[in-house]
Amino acid sequence: MECREHPGVEAAGGCARCGKAGCRHCLTMAAGALFCRSCATLLGAGAPAREPAPRVPVDPKKRMSAAWIGAVVFLIWGMATVSPPP
Ligand SMILES: [Zn+2]
Ligand SMILES: [Zn+2]
Repeated sequence: MECREHPGVEAAGGCARCGKAGCRHCLTMAAGALFCRSCATLLGAGAPAREPAPRVPVDPKKRMSAAWIGAVVFLIWGMATVSPPP
């Protein structure tokens, strides 16, 4: 398998979203998976590697409340989906 963008270059893997084969210059690591450039840009992970995102320490309390809000929203959404129509 060779890179779609660079013929003759062995592909390092395939895009996790569209499956396009790409070499390690074309694939971007995002959220633990490899994506091609266009998909990485779509996902908002196309930031250049030379400018890493600053690590902002998250307040544990804020993180907990965010988790709670997520759980509550998921519960409400789940109930609304599961409950039978009147
Ligand atoms: Zn892709
Ligand atoms: Zn390539």
